[in-house]
Amino acid sequence: LSERLNGVLDKLTKRGQLGEADVDEALREVRVALLEADVALPVVKDFVAAVRAEAVGERVVKSVTPGQMVIKIVHDELVKVLKPANDAGGVAGAGLDLNHPAPVPILMLGLQGSGKTTSTAKIARRLAEKQGKKVLMASLDTRRPAAQQQLAILGEQTGIKTLPIVPGEPPVAIAKRAMNAGRLEGYDVVMLDTAGRLAIDDELMAELAQVRDAVKPHESLLVADAMTGQDAVNTAKHFQDKIGITGIMLTRIDGDARGGAALSMRAVTGRPIKLLGTGEKLDQLEDFHADRVAGRILGMGDIVSLVEKAMEATEQEEAEKLARKMQKGQFDLNDMAQQLKQLQKMGGLGGIMGMLPGIGKMQKQLEGRMDEKVVGRTLAIINSMTPKERRLPDIIKASRKTRIARGAGVQVQDVNKLLKQHQEMARMMKQVSKLGQKGLMRHGLS
Ligand code: GDP
Ligand code: MG
Repeated sequence: LSERLNGVLDKLTKRGQLGEADVDEALREVRVALLEADVALPVVKDFVAAVRAEAVGERVVKSVTPGQMVIKIVHDELVKVLKPANDAGGVAGAGLDLNHPAPVPILMLGLQGSGKTTSTAKIARRLAEKQGKKVLMASLDTRRPAAQQQLAILGEQTGIKTLPIVPGEPPVAIAKRAMNAGRLEGYDVVMLDTAGRLAIDDELMAELAQVRDAVKPHESLLVADAMTGQDAVNTAKHFQDKIGITGIMLTRIDGDARGGAALSMRAVTGRPIKLLGTGEKLDQLEDFHADRVAGRILGMGDIVSLVEKAMEATEQEEAEKLARKMQKGQFDLNDMAQQLKQLQKMGGLGGIMGMLPGIGKMQKQLEGRMDEKVVGRTLAIINSMTPKERRLPDIIKASRKTRIARGAGVQVQDVNKLLKQHQEMARMMKQVSKLGQKGLMRHGLS
């Protein structure tokens, strides 16, 4: 695939912005790559359409081909889709939520053989060892002979308590007994391992719904095999519709499957992937990292890192240019727009300004004042200006302001606010650049 892709990429060497033809050509290869990674077809279609809209018109970084640029955009979009909504970049958002009065009920769901029982023990072990939690495990799998014993054995291996087995007891009764024991014996967490089926069936769903209503789980984890291919969508949708899940644990990530199920399940349920199973052993449990899984699904890591390097180089050049301008006391609206785009892209972190000594503080102020919506609106205003206006903001008087405001769909006072903000920034830039001369030289930026 990679060879074929490079062939296509080599043909596309036009500079500047990404045209529709560039994007479509590269996305054809992306579509194949995603299907090969076993992402479900409807999910591939939606994803590719979304990326297409994102990519057309994007600027191509110096020294990469348009096709390579598209791959990088696809990769970033994939990371964005896979990332939990409340994850600002760290581990927050990933992992389990235990913010609930003890004992916290955690329900493990999934098809037979997906790894529920193993994962139950893995999670319990981690909660006990890493977080000092007192965990009780209970198996509600009354269907498969010896399933309850399997969990009991894992309990002995890990030193995690399991609920004593009462032969013939139905699943809902086991669940209630587990919660009672959890309350009476002071457990922090009660993990409920459920029965699975080879395929979705109504009887199982009814049983699981009863369990859910009896214990009101705080987390309901869908355990899914990373090798699940096109079925992933169906399975995930069913569990989400019939039971409701709070997250996904993807197992057998140690196998050679590219893990397209991760994208399929994330897309159809809207729920985050929280944990990964990376082997049969009980310590083979990892937090989910969107960038790693995205890289694996797309399978074009070389191209992505190539573009990243090119972007870094370009960024460095731009930083140097900006530093020189600042020293001369020039900081026009183009520079401001560029800074804002940087803020947007990096989620407010780092960026060119962060590289310049003394500016970190100002950047924080800017961030505080500018949420994403404001940044978008500000950029829209700058976009409605002529190149000359951007270079020489002083020429923007009343009639120009009216035109710009109309073009950006805002009020004249918004344009005024922006101009004032720019003046303030330019003034601070000048001050900082005076103070920061030494620092700039030390950083090799002057
Ligand atoms: P359940 O039917 O959903 O409870 O699945 P089990 O927990 O019994 O697991 C079925 C098989 O998958 C067992 O042989 C496990 O050792 C294996 N398994 C579970 N998780 C992983 C994993 O992350 N990687 C690998 N390679 N095997 C796993
Ligand atoms: Mg099991």
